[in-house]
Amino acid sequence: MGISSQFECQTCGLAAAVSGGDDVGKMTRTQTRYCSNCETLVDVCTGLHDHVQEQAHHRDEYNRCPDCREIASIAWASGEPCPRCGGTMTGPGDVIVFWD
Ligand SMILES: [Zn+2]
Ligand SMILES: [Zn+2]
Repeated sequence: MGISSQFECQTCGLAAAVSGGDDVGKMTRTQTRYCSNCETLVDVCTGLHDHVQEQAHHRDEYNRCPDCREIASIAWASGEPCPRCGGTMTGPGDVIVFWD
């Protein structure tokens, strides 16, 4: 089960509820990335667990922003500076969502 927490940039106001790094769900592995199209942080699917049989259509979903479907390739982890402006990020704050 994955946990998302609130992160926020003190400088530009970028705010997102994400895992803040690598995480695993019931079937998928995820990683927090910066989507330069949406200008926000998102958790993208990077692959499936070994025990899950991969289907061809799954591969189309990897590394894509869940909102705009563009490839989000800039990895971001809790403790790193804001990927948009280089400012200081606060967080992890309150746990927002539990997801599978
Ligand atoms: Zn910022
Ligand atoms: Zn996006």
